[in-house]
Amino acid sequence: MELLDILNYFVACYFGLMLGNFATSFYFRIPKNIPLLGFNYFTSTPPHCSYCNHLLKLKEFAPIIGYWLCKGRCNYCGAKIDANYFVIEVFALFLSLFCYFHFYFLDWYLIFILFGISSLIISMLFSKLQKIDMKFMLFILFLGIIYSTLINLTIYNWVFKASISSVIATFLMHARYKYHFSSKYYDICKILFTALIWFDLNSMIPYALFILANYALLRRYNFSFSKHVHNYSYFIMFLFSIINHLVVV
Ligand SMILES: [Zn+2]
Repeated sequence: MELLDILNYFVACYFGLMLGNFATSFYFRIPKNIPLLGFNYFTSTPPHCSYCNHLLKLKEFAPIIGYWLCKGRCNYCGAKIDANYFVIEVFALFLSLFCYFHFYFLDWYLIFILFGISSLIISMLFSKLQKIDMKFMLFILFLGIIYSTLINLTIYNWVFKASISSVIATFLMHARYKYHFSSKYYDICKILFTALIWFDLNSMIPYALFILANYALLRRYNFSFSKHVHNYSYFIMFLFSIINHLVVV
């Protein structure tokens, strides 16, 4: 390994830690509609505990080690810190190293690290709140559009899929109104429409069959395993797409 290569791994580590740390504030703020930019003089505060509002020292909010040093609890009020913060930060670090190893710092690095982190967060929120967060979903669609354009070197691929999806969505809206479908069916449609933008048919068919079969199992037998798989559909979409990218592209 050359010196430059070692240096790049350090940069990848640093990017992963920073992105992971940044992503935890998205995870916390977006579902609660708290503004993301701390530039507003009146609303911005330094890092603080979200329960007791006590300001935190650098070692208490530092990525990964902060959670470990505080043993998962706030040092001032003892409130339990959501373990998902820790999971997001560790995942972002390893994903950054993995992506650098395979893609160097090319476009794929940025696309897959952002897709990985946002798919993990949308899945955690789906699991916690039982609804798909629209802002994260739009972000994943946006990344899918960039990915599809880079892969196919034309925008017609995703424009075609998006127009077919919007026609189907119109029919589904009517059907939902007429037959009083539950919002759960809508969640499945959102997941499949997002996957359609990301995937070509070779990955779309197995992914859709997997998601639908799992959902049928969940409805019929209510397995807790199927429930987790259903909640983590977006994360599984990410795994499918990165494996597909490494093997096929
Ligand atoms: Zn506290």
